[in-house]
Amino acid sequence: MSIFTTFGQKHLYRIAETKKLTMGKEILSFEPKEVFVPVVDPVTSKPVDLKVAVGDEVKEGQLIGTRPENGLPVFASVSGKIVREETLFHANLGRNVKHFVIENDLKHVKVEPLKELGDDATSEEIVARMKEVGLSGHGGAGFPTFIKYQGVTTKNIDTILINAVECEPFLTTDHEAMLKNKEEILKGISFMIKVAGAEKAYIVYKKGNPDLDEAYADLSSYPNIEVRKVKNVYPAGWERYIVKATLKRTYNRLPAEANVIVNNVTTCLMLAKAMKGEVETRKVITVSGNGVQNPNNVELPIYTRAIDVIEFLGGYVGESVSVSFGGPMCSRGVMDDKAVILPFNNALTILPRIKLDTLPCLRCGACTEHCPSGLQPVEIKQAYQAKNMDRMLALTPWHCIACGLCSYVCPSKIDVNDFVKKAKLMTSVQLKKMEAQKSKEGK
Ligand code: SF4
Ligand code: SF4
Repeated sequence: MSIFTTFGQKHLYRIAETKKLTMGKEILSFEPKEVFVPVVDPVTSKPVDLKVAVGDEVKEGQLIGTRPENGLPVFASVSGKIVREETLFHANLGRNVKHFVIENDLKHVKVEPLKELGDDATSEEIVARMKEVGLSGHGGAGFPTFIKYQGVTTKNIDTILINAVECEPFLTTDHEAMLKNKEEILKGISFMIKVAGAEKAYIVYKKGNPDLDEAYADLSSYPNIEVRKVKNVYPAGWERYIVKATLKRTYNRLPAEANVIVNNVTTCLMLAKAMKGEVETRKVITVSGNGVQNPNNVELPIYTRAIDVIEFLGGYVGESVSVSFGGPMCSRGVMDDKAVILPFNNALTILPRIKLDTLPCLRCGACTEHCPSGLQPVEIKQAYQAKNMDRMLALTPWHCIACGLCSYVCPSKIDVNDFVKKAKLMTSVQLKKMEAQKSKEGK
């Protein structure tokens, strides 16, 4: 079996059709024999401050260690014994790192739940609970939720937007969560409103979802929560898009500049569970695409290896596939299908690999025309290839949201997004150098 990094390959996504592969199907439950807990920070790759060691017995939800940068916890996702260390590929870091392997005893021996916090919890208690359970955004990026809410009362937030757009092809976990967990989601949103001191929250999803319309028609018990719908287009789930589409507001760097906080809908569900005292050890992910035998949403322990759940669903279709941690537009195929599901991963997309020959740029302008950030991807590509830093800086590649549309629409099958990504990295290093130089000269 070959696993390839692919992007820019043409899959003509009819988004609604791709979602039908898993939507409405019964969620399957998977129990791997082993889970593989990365013992490094998923962003900085610095070693976790460990509280356990190889040979220790652990319970489900027991603290394995804390992340060095922000103190967020890493929990055991199953009960059993830490039997060894193993080096595995990490999908977020893009390289091999150390993991603790826990042999699953299949007994689900859990740690004592945390103290339940009710409607009378203070804002400080809610933020502390977000941190205590390591709550991260479930939209795919994994930004720690407590950071959005810490000191939030100074930011004049008037609105919380709950992002349930799920605009990527194939993904359906948010949609299913909304249908199955309405009360808990509304509860989670209420806690967010309270912390931020906001007046209103809007749950934002795409037009053309009659089942959600029906489920969320009656919100009379929550007078400060309403539904808003956006167009059924990609990338309608982009934060800037939903802030503009629902509130007619714009911002430069962060939604808080427009007095808004944006949270993914499953994050609200997880907050409600956290307030009840639950630590997140399991999650539902979409495992879909034309490269897996039986696409389905699967409930599994966090830190399950991708290959284990793919085999649970019958394995790959064909000999050559790409496996992406996330949807096919924003994420790339990984080099190794033994990488594990992280707390903030919401999908595995498995697609047949199609060999494509890249043609020279036609100067058709399609990439520029479709870029939602208003960039000129083809110009950025050329500036990057010419190593022209001044031109790259002028073209502001740091505004790229990595939506992948430029690569998707390119008739020459050029992975334009990849060049923009490299230019973004190069210019961010250069900007830091320039800032350091400026402050040195200022002293
Ligand atoms: S990946 Fe970046 S450059 Fe390409 S269309 Fe999306 S925002 Fe624009
Ligand atoms: S879409 Fe492709 S062919 Fe057209 S201008 Fe952009 S890079 Fe060139």
